[in-house]
Amino acid sequence: MSEIRLFVTTTEAMASEILDLMTFCFGEEDLAIATTEVDEKNDVWEASVYMMTDEEDEIRARLEELFAETFADLPIEREVLPDIDWIAKSLEGLKPVRAGRFIVHGSHDRDKVRVNDLAIEIEAGQAFGTGHHGTTAGCLEVIDEVVRSRTVRNALDLGTGSGVLAIAVRKLKHIPVLATDIDPIAVRVARENARSNGLVDGIEFRVAPGFHSTAFGEYGPFDLIIANILARPLMKMAPQLSTHLAPGGSVILSGILASQRWKVIAAYNGAGLAHVRTIWRNGWVTIHLRHGRGLA
Ligand code: SAH
Repeated sequence: MSEIRLFVTTTEAMASEILDLMTFCFGEEDLAIATTEVDEKNDVWEASVYMMTDEEDEIRARLEELFAETFADLPIEREVLPDIDWIAKSLEGLKPVRAGRFIVHGSHDRDKVRVNDLAIEIEAGQAFGTGHHGTTAGCLEVIDEVVRSRTVRNALDLGTGSGVLAIAVRKLKHIPVLATDIDPIAVRVARENARSNGLVDGIEFRVAPGFHSTAFGEYGPFDLIIANILARPLMKMAPQLSTHLAPGGSVILSGILASQRWKVIAAYNGAGLAHVRTIWRNGWVTIHLRHGRGLA
């Protein structure tokens, strides 16, 4: 049995309306829904729902009904997704990943690093964050952009995992970084990774569940807060997170499925943050928001 993608090709605005409709219709079921940018210049987007072959007829009929009123003229397109080759996939896990100016690689790929790369060496291990997940890569891309274009004098990496994002910030700019995780093993691994990347100081690693630690008051407020956790805890944390953000500061959130994007943005709008940009990677989104105060 293969995996099928049914999708419509449209504009960004319509794709997000369709995403809302599809979330409403399929949200309670185990179906993946996503919007993807196909062509930035010409505003071409796809809104997709994924399923197995045996569900296709039923889902197609429900989509047609859903679109009947407003989107009846949009043809529903179909793609059969290639069967996943798990051996190839596991080898893929060993390949270096590029995001922004960063390359995240294992020690066996040091020779892939080019002169202008910002290299981060992470071995696949006990903590999440080798750069292969769409959320980590998405964060790296936005970090590169934010640290380059805005005033960032300090940063917080909440849910640091392998430490990859904290290391990335510190490699970009010589500023103090606080990196926290609920998991003491992650904190230990992250500290070791920082050291093996030549960063002996500058990043303070602490074990902390959410914002429960005095470290946040000690090191904050922050010009940049990055949190790659999951939609639900991120929404819960919105008020606390905004308290620790400096005026005009930036927030980068990830661990969010495309279909959860609006809910998370709404929670952060409620905490006084404005949406700047979303990027999509493999069905996951990374969202950049800014403090309302100090917005140009
Ligand atoms: N920042 C890394 C790792 C993301 S995985 C990257 O982008 O690749 C998410 C991490 O958040 C895990 O290490 C997990 O232990 C941690 N985490 C989950 N819930 C948390 C919470 N409430 N407070 C702090 N850390 C949390």
